[in-house]
Amino acid sequence: MYAEYFPVFADLVHRLGLVALISMAYGSIIRAFNLPWTRGLMVGLLFGGAAIISMLDPVIVDDGIIVDARSILLALSAPFGGVVAVLVSTALTILSRVLIGGVGVQAGVVGIVIIGLISLIFTLVYRPQTYSWKHFLILGLTVPLYTLSIFILPFEQALPIFQRIALPILTLNVAGIFLISMFLHRERLRVDRVKTLEVDAHTDPLTNLANRRLFDRVARRTFRKAASTGGDVFSLVMIDIDSFKSINDRWGHSNGDLVLVEISTIIRSLVGKSDLVARYGGEEIAILMPSAAAGEAMVMAEAIRRRVNETFFDLGRTRAHVTVSAGVATFTAQHQSMTELIEEADGALYRAKRLGRNRIELAAMAA
Ligand code: GH3
Ligand code: MG
Ligand code: MG
Repeated sequence: MYAEYFPVFADLVHRLGLVALISMAYGSIIRAFNLPWTRGLMVGLLFGGAAIISMLDPVIVDDGIIVDARSILLALSAPFGGVVAVLVSTALTILSRVLIGGVGVQAGVVGIVIIGLISLIFTLVYRPQTYSWKHFLILGLTVPLYTLSIFILPFEQALPIFQRIALPILTLNVAGIFLISMFLHRERLRVDRVKTLEVDAHTDPLTNLANRRLFDRVARRTFRKAASTGGDVFSLVMIDIDSFKSINDRWGHSNGDLVLVEISTIIRSLVGKSDLVARYGGEEIAILMPSAAAGEAMVMAEAIRRRVNETFFDLGRTRAHVTVSAGVATFTAQHQSMTELIEEADGALYRAKRLGRNRIELAAMAA
């Protein structure tokens, strides 16, 4: 006797499959696109495309009455993709509604615009960081207001249709928006968490420079590439703060930390965009300069040495003067491994220390 519900159930499961696909695609988009407008464009295309699919595949609610899930996906465009996304998905949906045609075109287009506006207003009122199930319930209850667009038709014609579609559309939207937004929200949290973990895994928490893990990975990759092409050149600068132990001893460990952070900031402000600066050890900072020859790396190391030498670090009670030394090594076809190159830079750094500190030395092999 419940057999009549089976097709409805199958229909529901079938649409849940689409929801799963949309959330997966959404996760990939927000992972791959970081700029607000490109991310918005992609989310807009996804939600707009899905809205079109649901328009072509409507749910038959009652004899002769069909509703579709376009409102759900449109409504979620702004909360999950921003202003660009809602503009793109609204435009796409309007276009396909016009192409589908029929007597309801005008009301349909007005309805789509209303949903787009509700979606936009919702994101202006609530910040995505604060979303909870209550917000999705509010959105689900507000979106069905678009059905009022049916009153574009003559009142006596519109009223009976409205009476018949109002409840199914309300139910579909509340349930659909709630369900899909919970999926999307969870997907966004998951992607954000993974991104944070990825950044943490290769960042030094004190200086915010890259850590040694990332440096070693990038350096080995750079080495392999240079070794395989033969013609490529790159350089390595190893910087060490001079007599740092005495800075700690004199002004305390936390002031030592402050100096380390300031020196990191100075270095970051001087290097080029493609250079990788990493905290290699305690007070040792490494710079990987892809495509820089020895001369260029020496100029960079000297600029850093000079700037640090000219700086007075404000430590509250006192202004400290600190210097750095550096060793520079450059890749040649004779190098067998990245370790070898690092050892050379270390050797040059050691020589700079021996020769009196506050100076730069170039590794012998690169000369
Ligand atoms: P040199 O000129 O030969 O490099 O002398 P140095 O005192 O800098 O060399 P050494 O390697 O003997 O000492 C390094 C010191 O750096 C020891 C350690 O306490 C300090 N240090 C390492 N990491 C940190 C850190 O994160 N914060 C602070 N405040 N000190 C650190
Ligand atoms: Mg030192
Ligand atoms: Mg050291």
